[in-house]
Amino acid sequence: MKPQNIAIVGAGLVGSLWAVYLAKKGHKVSVFDRRSDIRKVKIIQGKSINLALSDRGWRGLINAGLEEDIRKVALPMNGRMMHYTSGDLTYQQYGKEGQAIYSVSRGLLNQTLVNCAARHENVEVFFNHQCKDIQLDTNTVQFFDTENNESKHLTFDRVFGTDGAFSAVRNRLQRLERYDYSQEYLNHGYKELEIPPGPDGKHQLDVTSLHIWPRGEFMMIGLPNVDGSITCTLFMAYEGKDAFENLKDEKTIRAFFEQHFPDAAPLMPELVEDFNNNPTGSLVMIKCNPWHYQDKICIMGDAAHAIVPFYGQGMNCGFEDCFVLFELMEKHGDDWATMFSEFTRLRKPNGDAILELALRNYIEMRDKTADPMFLLQKKIEARFNEKYPHLWTPLYSMVSFSHIPYKDALMKGDQQDAIMKKVMDRADIFEMWDSDEVENHILELVQNVNETLLSTQ
Ligand SMILES: Cc1cc2nc3c(=O)[nH]c(=O)nc-3n(C[C@H](O)[C@H](O)[C@H](O)COP(=O)(O)OP(=O)(O)OC[C@H]3O[C@@H](n4cnc5c(N)ncnc54)[C@H](O)[C@@H]3O)c2cc1C
Repeated sequence: MKPQNIAIVGAGLVGSLWAVYLAKKGHKVSVFDRRSDIRKVKIIQGKSINLALSDRGWRGLINAGLEEDIRKVALPMNGRMMHYTSGDLTYQQYGKEGQAIYSVSRGLLNQTLVNCAARHENVEVFFNHQCKDIQLDTNTVQFFDTENNESKHLTFDRVFGTDGAFSAVRNRLQRLERYDYSQEYLNHGYKELEIPPGPDGKHQLDVTSLHIWPRGEFMMIGLPNVDGSITCTLFMAYEGKDAFENLKDEKTIRAFFEQHFPDAAPLMPELVEDFNNNPTGSLVMIKCNPWHYQDKICIMGDAAHAIVPFYGQGMNCGFEDCFVLFELMEKHGDDWATMFSEFTRLRKPNGDAILELALRNYIEMRDKTADPMFLLQKKIEARFNEKYPHLWTPLYSMVSFSHIPYKDALMKGDQQDAIMKKVMDRADIFEMWDSDEVENHILELVQNVNETLLSTQ
């Protein structure tokens, strides 16, 4: 493959991983980020977002040779622990025995990935460089160097936009004729809070679980950090009864947490300070098409598909982008035009599918995880999957523990859901859930779906 002079705009999670992939192929890679050097920032784990890393993300990292580096900053979570207002807890394993998703601090992960990219001789990273625009005919990127207060115009063979949801690279593509773009905000936002380590330096809640406090219209989640703290995130409407607009002062904040999160509130000594000091983050969904321009520009990660975080898949999907584009690079060699158009063709439907799945999962997490019918349904599905793994994979496992394209997972998930709806409608389901009769009922319904699919092919 002919070595190229390549720019990556955005040294976030996806950009720094993609730099490693390109450098492996012998390209000269310059990575630009508008922020100052993240490696010089002290990351306070309980106070920074943490992310769930699952199989798709791991594959992207492993294929780039970074598994060892990332394992050091990742903690396995084998299941969800639901916390009820009564103080009761329910545990639900995510996948099969030994399967886990991993909690990683976004700041630590980003630092590690930038280090991994920068240690490669083909990669140079430039911070304080904000992309302002791109001249398409020459592939010249206009940067503003915020340290030296100067504009720079730099020309590249290829430009990759990994500059996040509000991408400047995508913004340039949006000005092309017939470019599709849509953006929608959720009317819920989020707030980061902290449960610090206990007096013994250890986690104050089970370290092998992702903690969820499902409360119907809102919820809080908690993910463990390697330093013994737990980062909690409250997701809630901006306006309405239980909403950010009503938590204005110490009294209302404390009363709200004591009422709704009575087991967590005493573990948060800086609750009010954190609540007041940490910004309320907004949640945006962005779709666009295509994800490339000729053989010159390609966008990846949140720049191409910003989704809500409720399936824990935004970053995972971005790392999968890197894996897929690298495979296309191996396949198409120097034919960048085909490589890019194939990337849009293959990935765009999957980006749309994970956006839909993530949106649906919000309702599932905040509302249904507290519902006994839902918990029973998951138990029945897990049992059936155990006995007939070739016939049934729970949707969560398809998304988090497999590499089935998201669009296929969405379709199969809908078929399985229709089957489970019929099964859960049985009047005797609570008594009969683990009987042969229910098992045969599911088998029969699965067979019907398979026959229908065969007859339409
Ligand atoms: C609350 C929350 C929880 C989440 N939880 C999960 C989770 O559990 N699992 C998961 O997989 N995903 C999760 N996500 C999503 C995940 O954070 C994103 O999908 C991921 O960060 C996307 O990576 P990226 O590299 O595409 O973009 P970003 O991480 O946003 O990086 C973009 C980079 O581009 C730089 N940049 C921006 N504009 C410019 C410019 N004009 N010029 C130069 N540089 C620029 C930025 O400084 C930044 O460094 C969560 C998101 C949120 C908000």
